Amino acid sequence: MPRDRLKKPSPWLDSVRPDITVVRLGHRQQRDKRITSHLGLTARAMGATHFVLCGDDDEKVLETMADVTETFGGNFTAEHHAKPLGFLRHFAKQGGQIVHLTMYGEDFESATSMIPTEVPIAVVVGGAKVPGEIYKLADYNIAVGHQPHSEVAALALFMSEIMGGVAGSEHFSGARLEVKPHPSGKVVIDHDDDSDASQ
Ligand code: SAM
Repeated sequence: MPRDRLKKPSPWLDSVRPDITVVRLGHRQQRDKRITSHLGLTARAMGATHFVLCGDDDEKVLETMADVTETFGGNFTAEHHAKPLGFLRHFAKQGGQIVHLTMYGEDFESATSMIPTEVPIAVVVGGAKVPGEIYKLADYNIAVGHQPHSEVAALALFMSEIMGGVAGSEHFSGARLEVKPHPSGKVVIDHDDDSDASQ
């Protein structure tokens, strides 16, 4: 599907958005709690539907995802998997595509346009040490520039490219709190009490 079609906001946009699972490898509870939470929140905000935490089973990170989804809506889910390679092999067997974000990969602007968007996609981001098997298992190894930076930045830029931008409010149905754009203040609708909770 040509990427420029996804860039046009239209009512059918949601039905053609790729179904994306973000897989975080090698989470270390103490060291990575903040960045892994940011990664999950970025995945959700950019329109991913699922987050898989590998490495330490960190209930707090998973709770953060659940709390934010409960408050701000959408169908985002998050879970821990102890065996990322097993999860990814199973994902591929079911017909999914695996995209690994790595500074050693192909240029993301050109490579992303080759990824089929009709099948589920697992986007894998590394932690401390990425096992060599991941590079072979991946259908696409994609670099967001060839400099080392942040998994959050890499994910955001890749997601923007494949999704055609940030997910709009239509992606977050069932939200209790809905933020309305405003040039100078905070406008938040609380759907529970049906009143304007602006500050
Ligand atoms: N030092 C670790 C290693 O050698 O495996 C990588 C640390 S890096 C902060 C963590 C993750 O961020 C990487 O595994 C990769 O997924 C992502 N990342 C960092 N720079 C990237 C880039 N230029 N392009 C794509 N992904 C990148």
